[in-house]
This record gives sequence, structure tokens and C-alpha cells, in this order.
Amino acid sequence: MTTTERVALPTGEDLEAAKARGRRAYELDREHVFHSWSAQAHVKPMTILAAEGSYVWDGEGNRLLDFSSQMVNTNIGHQHPGVVEAIREQAAKLCTISPAHVNDARSEAARLIAERTPGDLNRVFFTNGGADAVEHAIRMARLHTGRHKVLSRYRSYHGGTDTAINVTGDPRRWPNDHGNTGVVHFHGPFLYRSQFHAENEAQETERALAHLDQLIRFEGPDSIAAIVLESVPGTAGIMVPPPGYMAGVREICDRYGIVFIADEVMAGFGRTGRWFAIQHFDVVPDLLTFAKGVNSGYVPLGGVAIGDQIAATFADRAYPGGLTYSGHPLATAAAVATINAMTEEKIVENAARIGDDVLGPGLRALAEKHPSVGEVRGLGVFWAIELVANPTTREPLAPYGGSSPAMNEVLAACKANGLLPFANYNRIHAAPPCTVSDDEVREGLAILDTVLDVADAHVRS
Ligand code: PLP
Repeated sequence: MTTTERVALPTGEDLEAAKARGRRAYELDREHVFHSWSAQAHVKPMTILAAEGSYVWDGEGNRLLDFSSQMVNTNIGHQHPGVVEAIREQAAKLCTISPAHVNDARSEAARLIAERTPGDLNRVFFTNGGADAVEHAIRMARLHTGRHKVLSRYRSYHGGTDTAINVTGDPRRWPNDHGNTGVVHFHGPFLYRSQFHAENEAQETERALAHLDQLIRFEGPDSIAAIVLESVPGTAGIMVPPPGYMAGVREICDRYGIVFIADEVMAGFGRTGRWFAIQHFDVVPDLLTFAKGVNSGYVPLGGVAIGDQIAATFADRAYPGGLTYSGHPLATAAAVATINAMTEEKIVENAARIGDDVLGPGLRALAEKHPSVGEVRGLGVFWAIELVANPTTREPLAPYGGSSPAMNEVLAACKANGLLPFANYNRIHAAPPCTVSDDEVREGLAILDTVLDVADAHVRS
């Protein structure tokens, strides 16, 4: 028995006609579409017939509350009318142009981004998405320093292309772990599962920084081009860095002449209640990668925001990299409209308020009530619910890198009750759009309350 709601499709379509369209799309998908990260014979993808605001409609016409923002990208919600219109207008004016030419959408998008990034990140190199932004940031750091090694943390995700997947610190790297030399991983701070036997945040910060410093000295500081860090690691578990950690990394980078690359592909553009997550820590990186929220993913776009020092390296020396679609007019027009809408509608402020007043307190109350919740943590509209089979030993409800029947049951209960969460191993992430309303968050919390009863039934103590 499901409690998903039958609400008319926002497209105004007849439901039976829409469902028939969905069935045809599903048949074609299973015959011809090759899916990411999946054994092709085993995927059973959900069909989406329509989406609007914080909701999507599945192939049966059920309305689900989208607490995933898809791949944590629809920061302004689905089908924002102003952004849809801007894409339409740009398509009528100029669909595409070579990146060698000036186009007004790209120029304005770069200005708006540079205005919002911290410090002297004044120039933007546009890419097609997040992984290639990370690839280019690393290439810039290697050329700028003349060094080769790159450090990144375990429990991180930086993208699916060759260098990006090799700097990634999660199991998706393992089958791809041969394309890159000189990538070294370290442990970042994560107090709930501390690698450093820390009992509080101050200890975790101090010991995580000492570990990083020691690793650099053992690897050879003069061989290290960059440290790549998600400002708040996303897919790997939304572990907000404790006070002093990011400033400590900045200091270590300065001491050894290492480029600090902040990966804001998931955490950027309002997700944490600030334009960029690193602004919570008062730290300016040398390079900042972005994608997803820059235009809510309405048209593929990513990029690297470049500090003045690294920009100067390529003032007289050519940067050896480029893309046919760097600064694509449709994508950058969508970015301009998105950033302007976020500013005018105070969408970043909404994300901060929702996190402080509604979603954060609501999730903490659920953690108090349900023994299966080991910890909730996050900022803005970016929260992780860490599910455990045993609250004392903190044994996760699904193993690192895997799934479990218990976790599958929990996720099925989400869907049956009308909620689409982002899930990873033993975690559910509550990551609604930054535009989410108080009532929608309360609706999601009520569903999670029901769903967590299912998780509680698997708790052994
Ligand atoms: N970096 C981070 C932090 C991400 O979360 C992601 C994607 O989830 C990427 C990079 C890769 O972005 P894309 O999938 O657009 O290539």
C-alpha cells in the first residue's frame, strides 16, 4: 500500500497518455540506453514523466517529493519558469558558437560567478560538467607548480573521467585505478568515524592536519602540485569540516607551495546556505571547481574559477587545454538566469534558513527518536542521515561501498511513501532544492519518520 499522491501532471497531459509515453520510453531505454555505474542487465530505472519545483512524477503518475535534487543539482527546483524562458530566448538568438568568439551569455555568466566567488577568483574557464572541471584544475596546478603529485582525501568524489576518478576516494575508483600516477590519498576529518581516535572536533582538526602534514613530508613537498578537497564532501557523506580544518589546509598549502583546489561541484551555488561552501570557513582556495548548481543542471555546464596567481601563469604562456563547448551559450544563458533568480528570490538565504530552522532541527529530532540513526549532519539543504545496525558499535546498516537488504527496504519505503532521497551505502541524504518551502520540508520529515521505523526494526544492540 503506497501513500504516494496522485496529483495532476504539471504538463497538463492526460495521465493515461503520459503513462503510455513513459512505458514506450522505458522499453527503448532497456533496449538501447547504456547506464552509468551499472550492470546493464540489472538496472530498473525509474521513469520520470514530469517535474516541477520540489516534486517529480514517476511513470505511474505518482508525485514524489524530490529530496535528492536529482544528482544534487536542481538547486532552484525543477522547471524554474525564468530559467526555462532564458534558455528559450537564447536558443532563438544564438544556440552555439566557437569558444574562441566572445558571446554575451558567457561573458555575463563569468562576471556573475567571479562576483560571488571568494577572494581573487576572478577568471572562469568553462567546462561541460564537474569531472572535466576537476581535470582542468589539476592540469592548471601541475603546469603552475611544475610538480606532478596530487593529494585528495578518502571518502570523496571528484568525477568519472580519468584523473578525476583517480583522485576520487571512494569505491568507484577501484576498478579505474590505473590511469594516473602520483595520486595519493589521505584521511580527512570525520569525527563520527574518526581515524584519529579523536573525542572532539578540536582533536579531530589537530590530528587530521598533523596527518596531512606528515603525509606531505613523507611524499616530498616539492613533488606535490595540488591538494583537491571538496569544501564539504558530498556523496561520501556530508562531513562538514570541523572549525580550523580548512584554514589549516590553506596554511599547509602556503607553507609548501601547493595549490589548493576546492571542489564545489556539489556543495557550491547555495547548497550549504552560502554561495560557496568554503565561505563558511573564511578560506580562499587557488582554484575552485563548480558545475551542477551553477545553472541547476538545466543545460550541462561546469568550470574552474581561477585565482590571480594561476591566471598570471597563463598570461604569456598558452594554457594547453580546451573544449568545443567551453562557455556554450545555452548553458551560460541558463547560468545567468539561475544566478539572477537565486539573487532576486533570495534562494541562498532560503537554504540557510531552512537548514537552521526547519530541516536541521527536524532531522536532529528524528535522530533522538530513532535508534537506527547514528548521526545527522549537514548545513543548509545538504544533510546526511547515517544509518546504523548497532548504535553502540556504529556498525553501518550497509557496508562501506555496498548495499544490504535492510537498506534496500528503507529505500523502498521512501519511494512507497512518496519521497525520493539521495542514497549512498548506509546513508540517506536529505538534499531538497534550495527553494524548498517549510511545508515541503515538514512533509519530507514526516515521511522520514515513518521510513526510519523500518530501519529501526533492523537495529541490534
Ligand atoms: N566533484 C564533485 C564534488 C561531485 O559531487 C561530482 C559529481 O557528483 C563531480 C565532481 C563530477 O561532476 P560531473 O558528474 O558533472 O562530471
